[in-house]
Amino acid sequence: MNKNQEQVVICKKCNHSPMVSRLENDSYVYKAERLKLTNLPVFICPKCNNKFYPKIYKLKRIKQIKDQVSKLTNFQKVLTSEDLLKIRTTLGMTPEQIDPLITAKFGDYAKWESGKEKIPAAYNLILKLIKKELDSGKNINIIDFLKGERFWWKG
Ligand SMILES: [Zn+2]
Repeated sequence: MNKNQEQVVICKKCNHSPMVSRLENDSYVYKAERLKLTNLPVFICPKCNNKFYPKIYKLKRIKQIKDQVSKLTNFQKVLTSEDLLKIRTTLGMTPEQIDPLITAKFGDYAKWESGKEKIPAAYNLILKLIKKELDSGKNINIIDFLKGERFWWKG
């Protein structure tokens, strides 16, 4: 393996050789989840800063994404109607109370909880964060959780 990493790579932009190998981190958004990708090998040209992504870069990237996606737990998946009902009742709110705090259009929340419409990824993420707080036993107030600000509040 190490032998292959020592290969001499010539810059396609300025013909300088060798390009320097470096490990980089990246991220990938799968549904509402940001996956962290690490130690991806790239080549940098010390002369012109041109970057070259070898085949192994792509392969490692795909492998890390696949591995992480296969390990996603319930927390990372899209919330179900039951999840939403549980979040809302734990907060002690009616659909009419929770709606203006987390949606952009009044009535959206009820559609998500009833399963009539799929929760958009950004809202799913916020609700998942709220669920995480509640699941860890925190007695949160949704206003406190959102740091006193009403997201997308239309006043
Ligand atoms: Zn170059």
